Amino acid sequence: MIDLRSDTLTKPTEEMRKAAYAADVGDDVYGEDPTVNLLEKKAAEILGKEAALFVTSGTQGNQIAVLTHCQPGNEILLEAESHIFFYESGAVAALAGVQTRTISGENGAMNPLHIEAAIRGEDQHFPETGLICIENTHNRAGGAVVPPSNMRDIYTVAQKYNIPVHVDGARLFNAVASTGHSIKEFTQYCDTVQICLSKGLGAPVGSIIAGPKDFIKKARKWRKRLGGGLRQVGIIAAPAMVALTKMTERLTEDHDNARFLAECLKNFERLEVVNSVDTNIVVIDVSGLNLNAGEFVEALKEKGVLSVTFGDILVRLTTHYDVNRRDIQKAVSAIHELVNERNGRY
Ligand SMILES: *Cc1c(COP(=O)(O)O)cnc(C)c1O
Repeated sequence: MIDLRSDTLTKPTEEMRKAAYAADVGDDVYGEDPTVNLLEKKAAEILGKEAALFVTSGTQGNQIAVLTHCQPGNEILLEAESHIFFYESGAVAALAGVQTRTISGENGAMNPLHIEAAIRGEDQHFPETGLICIENTHNRAGGAVVPPSNMRDIYTVAQKYNIPVHVDGARLFNAVASTGHSIKEFTQYCDTVQICLSKGLGAPVGSIIAGPKDFIKKARKWRKRLGGGLRQVGIIAAPAMVALTKMTERLTEDHDNARFLAECLKNFERLEVVNSVDTNIVVIDVSGLNLNAGEFVEALKEKGVLSVTFGDILVRLTTHYDVNRRDIQKAVSAIHELVNERNGRY
């Protein structure tokens, strides 16, 4: 099977497994796991923030950020198709007790004017705007890069109204690899950031949140409240360190493979690539084949390629460390075969 469902499927490398085995560990709730301490220090440095916290997942990192930034009854501004709004089981309502106000972006990027217009005034009828979230790269926009200039303009508005900005940067290193901008060129325009080490970077588990020291101190308490205070967690921080320090540059291979895949698919009749393919995600519209997304995914599975539905007529294909160019070529052949069958040429 060629698995293009998600970059979360990557398995830890041999180096990661060895690092886990050899990790020096202690009780992290006591602050005594040297491997975690080193990872948090290194992550803060790389992301250009005062401090960092190792958390179990991207979702936990985002939720801790919302909990730490906001009070119950606040309103948060976020993109209409953002992961925090779309894919986190309503956690911001269930846990932080905040309401969401969504803003439709273009290719994942929100217009700073729309954000400014949505910020609440003093009137007693209104909730307070507690947080602005930016997602970069934007998952449902097909891995689109939100340019630093857009982040800067949003951050300028946020600072004018004294509202913190959190970046859901689950795939922020993909934005770095795609544009050649440094990571700090992105993270300078936010107060806090979450990055996933377990997606394209290949770690088995773990995310980082980074921000000011006092924020991270409060975030640590929220992590504990959520049951995320772990013990000899150096066992997973060690492979996470390999992900953070050695795997970021290789993301360009995934991007090259995604672009190659998209270029091949563009030659196929009745099948349309609908995203800009900035990074490692290709989204195709399969409705021209008279199939819905679920039927396409099933038919492709029978030909040895796994993909996921991305709505009724869209299918997402994601490249990652465990698929190489030959796998992509095979996937293209499988899709070609499927398209030809639908065109009734067989
Ligand atoms: C994957 C993802 C997350 C969540 O990460 P998990 O580790 O799966 O909880 C958050 N935000 C974005 C944009 C993502 O793509």
